[in-house]
Amino acid sequence: MVDYPGRLAAVLFTTGCNFRCGFCHNAALLGTMRPGYSWERLGELCEDFRRQWVRAVVVTGGEPTLAPALLETLAFLRERGFEIKLDTNGSRPAVLAEALPLVDFVAMDIKCSLPSYPEFVGFDDHGAIRESIAVLLASGKPCEFRTTLIEAVHTDAEMQAIGEAIRGAPVYAVQAFLPHDDLPDPALRTAARTRPQALRHAAEIVRPMVQRVEIRGD
Ligand code: SF4
Repeated sequence: MVDYPGRLAAVLFTTGCNFRCGFCHNAALLGTMRPGYSWERLGELCEDFRRQWVRAVVVTGGEPTLAPALLETLAFLRERGFEIKLDTNGSRPAVLAEALPLVDFVAMDIKCSLPSYPEFVGFDDHGAIRESIAVLLASGKPCEFRTTLIEAVHTDAEMQAIGEAIRGAPVYAVQAFLPHDDLPDPALRTAARTRPQALRHAAEIVRPMVQRVEIRGD
């Protein structure tokens, strides 16, 4: 009830990710590629979703654009009448562009300012992130960008740079970081949850550069 704005949605997870976010809540489960459902089993699940009044599906990860069968899976879901939201880290703009006609909504993470990607999430090609933002904004597809706010990392300068990178975006969401025992970065396992005032402060920095700002988890 929370993963697709305004929809009761099923959530399908893909495995494998090309980022190494120290705050990843899915790393233990989804970090490496694993076999997925057969088409037959996915069809059965779609029937189950329908019986449970689910008319929308969120495809998330891991990083879905790495999944070899992503486009076929989106088409499979679409043929069965589901609305589809795709989550992405924005690392594969060409795949994102191919996926756009098959989905109804895209949520793209903006982890930090683009030059900070190598250090913060272990991904060197921040040109790819810039390209994904451009692809998404030019498409006119309903979308949002979102950042998990870690106070020690997301300084005012970082937030300013994030806002400039997504200038004109329809929605930007800043969401609370939650510490957890199995986070990949040991230092973050005991770090404090993002304070509500820090979320509000970060939101105010980005607000003038986008159409709407949302605060989540305050
Ligand atoms: S991009 Fe998402 S799934 Fe990948 S490591 Fe970062 S938080 Fe985890």
